[in-house]
Amino acid sequence: MRTTLAALACLFAAACSGASSTTGPKTLAPAPARTSAGASSAATASATASSTAAAPRSAAEQEAQAFVKSLVDIVRPLQVEANRAWFQASVTGTDEDFAKSTAAENAVLRFYSDPARFAQVKALRAETGIADPLLRRELEVLYLEMLGKQVEPALLEQITALGSEVEQAFNTYRGKVDGREVSQNEINEILRTSTDSKALREAWAAQKGVGALVAPKLKRLVALRNEVAHKLGFRDFYAMRIAENELDEDKLLALFTQLDELTREAFVGYKAEVDARLSKRLNVPAAKLMPWHYQNPFFQDPPAVFNTGLDEVYEKQDTLALCRTFYSSIGLEIDDILARSDLYEKKGKSPHAFSSDVDRQGDVRILANIVPGLEWQSTLMHELGHSVYAKYTDQSLPWLLRTEAHALTTEGIAMMFEELAPNPNWAAALGIIDAPTRDKALPEARSFLAFAPLQFSRWTLVMLHFERELYRDPEQNLNKLWWDLVEKYQGLHRPEKRDEPDYASKIHLVVAPVYYQNYMLGQLFASQVQESIAALEKREPLDAIFYKDPQVGEFLRTKIFAPGGRYRWDELTEKATGKPLGPEAFAHRFSKK
Ligand SMILES: [Zn+2]
Repeated sequence: MRTTLAALACLFAAACSGASSTTGPKTLAPAPARTSAGASSAATASATASSTAAAPRSAAEQEAQAFVKSLVDIVRPLQVEANRAWFQASVTGTDEDFAKSTAAENAVLRFYSDPARFAQVKALRAETGIADPLLRRELEVLYLEMLGKQVEPALLEQITALGSEVEQAFNTYRGKVDGREVSQNEINEILRTSTDSKALREAWAAQKGVGALVAPKLKRLVALRNEVAHKLGFRDFYAMRIAENELDEDKLLALFTQLDELTREAFVGYKAEVDARLSKRLNVPAAKLMPWHYQNPFFQDPPAVFNTGLDEVYEKQDTLALCRTFYSSIGLEIDDILARSDLYEKKGKSPHAFSSDVDRQGDVRILANIVPGLEWQSTLMHELGHSVYAKYTDQSLPWLLRTEAHALTTEGIAMMFEELAPNPNWAAALGIIDAPTRDKALPEARSFLAFAPLQFSRWTLVMLHFERELYRDPEQNLNKLWWDLVEKYQGLHRPEKRDEPDYASKIHLVVAPVYYQNYMLGQLFASQVQESIAALEKREPLDAIFYKDPQVGEFLRTKIFAPGGRYRWDELTEKATGKPLGPEAFAHRFSKK
């Protein structure tokens, strides 16, 4: 039941399909600005026409509209080509296809980094004579996409090269267990299956070993990123990324503080249960459980202590057919998406999963590696969540706005669907388990569906605070800071006398900087949407399974998918759910055990 992981694997891939990737066709791309996944869709030729309404345009508006159209005419084919090339490279894995993909990505990057173009966008963005909200939004999207790229190309290239070097180090790193070299997969396998504390500790330390290897380079990367941010007038790279993501740093911190307060008690309660089960399994007193006892190097995903039996159920099912039946039952048709998709394992193909809106005019497709079972059932439900979002975005919107509102909104929707697969109520509604099996599975499923997001929320608190500090003061004692945060938010014990750069073993700090908050915000968004839908269905959020309820599809289509990038994410959230994004709906799910 590794649903959270499935979501993460996906988001990177989705992000990577966007315009602003600076490392080319890697599976784990650097975090894009908010528009990048968006920039990977496509559009009508009419560009801004639909936004004009009947009002006469001012001279400034006419100028801006013509300018935006001229930019879209250039960047749209470049972006579509980059999306196609990247999908193709992900399917074949050949050097030739990767070279094409990199070249196409670079063409998009060159477009957005052009200083003269940026100066014009910036001037028009400041122009007060432009009233049309869609046109203003288009200018904002362009501005944000270009902003972080307005430094000497040599500096950006240095960052890209160093990032690739570190990523390569991650890919090729082999830790040692029992004197033998082991891959990351082998390490994970030991962590998941061994019950021997010594072996577990060794495997865990082997994973952390990559941290010591890459830490000096990560620090160099942090310095270079800060240099870019300083040149562009930001306090540091963290502040710059947050601004590029259209987030307000103070509000973000306040929201995470509130999240911490609202989830702490529930998390501690569920963790005690997890500890008790692990203690029994490993024959280690609960108070003596150490980070290596939790089956995951970062304690970001639940150990396999919840057993619903659904894994075996899904292994015998047709993964695709269940998705078809479900999505169709809520009025969202996915046959065309699946027909264009590349769904099964093959040699050279990316082992991950993602959804790509290739051309923003209907070519939405998935890359997956389906193996029947709960994991891929969840993953496919997740990817199709992204796909239906893209498919049902208003096709008459201007090209630049025919995207999701924000990475967090599409990720939230995808996670909301993903969570249905491990829900026995959903499985029973689809007729794959009978009522007694469902009732037997429910208590375990409830615990899992509560603990997994709670645990993940605590982990995102660690990442959020660590990254902010990393860029604010890279020279501080980061080894200590990391464990201070892990103890505070995740409730794990720091290994005695440990003084190693364990933070650096988290690849996201390198390849997806200042991005983690989006996962958590996506969860909060999903909970709020779920609450709104549950109100339609008149059920408690966790009992809402949506099946055969066309109101759900209608709600999502009209309130969230159709508006695309028309509104900023916070405005969309209020319009769709009736309130600003907050942690209450998320926390409410865990308020009664
Ligand atoms: Zn995703």
